[in-house]
Amino acid sequence: MPMDTQVPGKIRSVNPASGEVLGEIDCASESEVLAAVQRGRMAQPQWAEVGLRRRISILREFQTKLHGRKSEIAAAITREAGKPLAEALVTEVSVVLDAARFLIEHAWGLLRDQPVPHGNLATKLKRGRLVREPHGVIGIISPWNYPFSIPATETLAALVAGNAVLLKPSELTPVVALELASLLYASGVPKNVFQVVIGGGPTGAALTRSAIDKLVFTGSVGTGKRIAAAAAERLLPVVLELGGKDPMLVLEDADVDVASSAAVWGAFVNAGQACLSVERCYAHRSLYEPFVKACAEKADRLRVNDGMAANTDVGPMIDERQVRIVEAHVEEAKSHGARVLVGGTRLPALGVNFYAPTVLADVTHEMRIMREETFGPVLPIMAFDDEQEVVRLANDSVYGLAASIWTRDRKRGERIAGRIQAGTVMVNDVISCFGISEAPHGGLKASGIGCTHGPFGLDEMVRKKYLDVDLTPGIKKVWWHGYGESFRRQMEGFLDWQFGRGLGERVRGALRAAGVVRRKRL
Ligand code: NAD
Repeated sequence: MPMDTQVPGKIRSVNPASGEVLGEIDCASESEVLAAVQRGRMAQPQWAEVGLRRRISILREFQTKLHGRKSEIAAAITREAGKPLAEALVTEVSVVLDAARFLIEHAWGLLRDQPVPHGNLATKLKRGRLVREPHGVIGIISPWNYPFSIPATETLAALVAGNAVLLKPSELTPVVALELASLLYASGVPKNVFQVVIGGGPTGAALTRSAIDKLVFTGSVGTGKRIAAAAAERLLPVVLELGGKDPMLVLEDADVDVASSAAVWGAFVNAGQACLSVERCYAHRSLYEPFVKACAEKADRLRVNDGMAANTDVGPMIDERQVRIVEAHVEEAKSHGARVLVGGTRLPALGVNFYAPTVLADVTHEMRIMREETFGPVLPIMAFDDEQEVVRLANDSVYGLAASIWTRDRKRGERIAGRIQAGTVMVNDVISCFGISEAPHGGLKASGIGCTHGPFGLDEMVRKKYLDVDLTPGIKKVWWHGYGESFRRQMEGFLDWQFGRGLGERVRGALRAAGVVRRKRL
């Protein structure tokens, strides 16, 4: 966390475009975090008991309230995180409204008990079912780049499943988290069932060490590893949604105009500060020059300004520390021979956190810009010659969050997608997968463990209990004690009956096994 926003014991929320202080909020101490976990623990059983129908109706109320306050919430996001108002609406508010829609429509079907039919003859006289139970108290630690949609989508899934939630938002965006809390409370979520603990890394670490039952973390790989190590100490289950270095593969038959617009949107949306940003782009050599030229022209036309201004395409970065990372990556790439086609500088006239949308050509995998997460408004483009090469380049990364493939040949796109190591591959689109509420969101390799969103994301919010009921309570099981030679032969027969190759062997097995029911058991 940057020093200039930290006052001891306080979190200062600052507008990244103007430097205006939006609020100063007390930081939760370790004992306050522990007390909040305790309150959540006490409140959770009653929340589970109100039943799924009631929780779904609270979600519906939340959706109505959020829809009613959509512009106000979008403005709060823009003020605190910098993104243009339109983006705050499209990539945050709308994602949450739709996540609520998904849960309202599907939570009932996805959370209800599920029969587990038995195939093994030995267990036919039992009825099994899967019961989904809330974990209890779920901790959510979230980043600043999507300060509303990330914690809200995770929170809604956790709450509808009957959990209490403790949210530790990024220290850079506490105000938006408090807006989420006010919407949830106004919709009928009890105060101790959803709590926000404000603070920086130490508050997050305190939450990780606390008695929570599961942790859903979204943030950088470095923090994710620290959390995984702390969680391992007490086998705390975790979902880790971490960083990415998403490749965009522009094949020789792609539409240059469409793909270049996509590359520019994918690289510069939220000033490049999206986990699913186009962080590296590979264009087939046959269209490399026109593609690069189109990207540069379009990037040059982007209007950079305060996100609150009506025509802004790209807002500020979140803080100067993030600007310095971008600057270092661009300078290093330049010193190794990358061509800067547009941008490549800060925009001090707009403010300390503004960096010009930058298109780099002739980059290589030796450069940090193609290997490390830049998380800023930079689109580095590299040429490739054939499919084999581009698949190798795309997979040459420690990350594996998402990727996109651009081609007019859908079948080929799908085939190549099968060779890409990523949690999501989109053919002919980027980033929008995050807004598809039915789709799981999660990464491979250093990009994380587990997932959020969709049925699998909801599944992370419940413990699976297998419930088995025996239908013959008055009968001792044939496999209980009282073994002997005849029992051994009966069991051989039973295995032949079930797994023997020919009909003859199976019938003989069944006959040998038959005596087992009359066997004396202890
Ligand atoms: P970060 O790791 O610095 O911080 C994330 C959160 O962790 C913050 O709330 C922070 O206070 C907290 N934290 C810091 N140290 C902690 C500790 N020791 N224990 C517990 N909590 C701690 O990340 P950031 O800069 O806020 O976010 C940007 C990163 O998040 C990027 O790498 C981006 O790719 C990633 N991200 C991933 C996804 C995804 O879904 N995979 C989505 C958005 C962002």
